[in-house]
Amino acid sequence: MIEAINISNDEDIELKSIYKNWTDWRWQIKNSIRDVQGLETFLGIKMDKETKDKINSTMAIFPMAITPYYLSLIDKENLESDPIFRQSVPSKDELIINEYDMQDPLSEDIDSPVPGLTHRYPDRVLLHVSNTCAMYCRHCTRKRKVGDNDYNQNKQALSGALEYIRNHSKIRDVLLSGGDPLLLSDEFLDWILTEVKKIPHVEVIRIGTRVPVVLPFRITDKLVNILKKHNPLWLNTHFNHPNEITESSKEALKKLADCGIPLGNQSVLLAGVNDCSYIMKNLVRKLVQNRVRPYYIYQCDMSNGLSHFRTTIGKGIEIMESLRGHTSGFAVPTYVVDAPGGGGKIPVMPNYIVSWSHNKVVLRNYEGVITTYNESDTYSSNSCDLKCDECNLTLSSPNIHKRKAVGIERLLSDYDKTISFSPELS
Ligand SMILES: *Cc1c(COP(=O)(O)O)cnc(C)c1O
Ligand code: SF4
Repeated sequence: MIEAINISNDEDIELKSIYKNWTDWRWQIKNSIRDVQGLETFLGIKMDKETKDKINSTMAIFPMAITPYYLSLIDKENLESDPIFRQSVPSKDELIINEYDMQDPLSEDIDSPVPGLTHRYPDRVLLHVSNTCAMYCRHCTRKRKVGDNDYNQNKQALSGALEYIRNHSKIRDVLLSGGDPLLLSDEFLDWILTEVKKIPHVEVIRIGTRVPVVLPFRITDKLVNILKKHNPLWLNTHFNHPNEITESSKEALKKLADCGIPLGNQSVLLAGVNDCSYIMKNLVRKLVQNRVRPYYIYQCDMSNGLSHFRTTIGKGIEIMESLRGHTSGFAVPTYVVDAPGGGGKIPVMPNYIVSWSHNKVVLRNYEGVITTYNESDTYSSNSCDLKCDECNLTLSSPNIHKRKAVGIERLLSDYDKTISFSPELS
């Protein structure tokens, strides 16, 4: 275990000189803080018995693991309210189970046709390639799986999921998820990416990872050279607070961006961490400065043990209201609620349409300016019968006739006569 030291908040400079292996990601994992004693030693604090007991009883259900790097970002003067502390150190509130909390609120396990794969949307799948994370985030929606070692993936275990993708030609986008895919060895990751890329109908691969935030040293030149081979590869990371953007994480992002990997960020809206317009605005600005495009802000899921992190949806809309128009359009993420029960992501935003008539739309902007858009009186849309060869728009895609509209798109389509959907009565 790490010996007691006195560190300031600018992790990098001081710590790099104290621990010669500080920037070695394997060292960071090996020295991850997993017990109360480690917390005390590393943070240079003493906790009373009651605090320790609370952390221990939470840890017995939801384990703790924090990289020394991430822990070093904590402001020790304001421990309990620190955003890094709140995201990484167990809280007794995790043991509160509310009436509506669930083990698997997104029904990921139910939507899993083969082990290790979630298929919810028509053209894309989640491939759970690892259950290991560099840090166990207290707000993890997959808390039920974190630290569950039976779930470790290997080539054999993944073969069923790969076979499923091969057999489903509609899948054109494969998201490597987990756990954290970037905690796999370079060789294993290279193997997975190669296998996925070999599948002719897979057009893009995505990686979802928190490594740039909690273990930026994992982004080595060797790793980046492997990722580069598999383009088009997109990478989404998970910054929640501007304090997480440090010299080390900037360097990791630079390496990824320099080799041409498009970077996105998915934040979770968390009470007491980032439920504030100023914090979010600061975060998205810092992200775009580092060539990361804010992609989603998630409403916190109704997973067991997350109730203390949940805000109202109203808070999220308020934050969106403070971003759109007030900062660069490409710095504005989409705010989504991941539908409980497994309906996928539902975007939520302020209302911009004030009213509507047969030929006018009244809209308002971010400042409250109200304006009128006159609808075109000469426009006539092509009536679409899916006969693309005869259409006056040009589209030559052999697959287009195979498509069938789903959901609301179907109600709006010209070629499908469905006029209503109703819930099944049982
Ligand atoms: C989020 C998610 C995706 C990807 O959704 P995008 O909106 O395309 O980023 C795919 N499958 C599942 C199950 C998801 O939860
Ligand atoms: S990195 Fe992601 S999957 Fe891992 S513990 Fe954090 S939120 Fe959960």
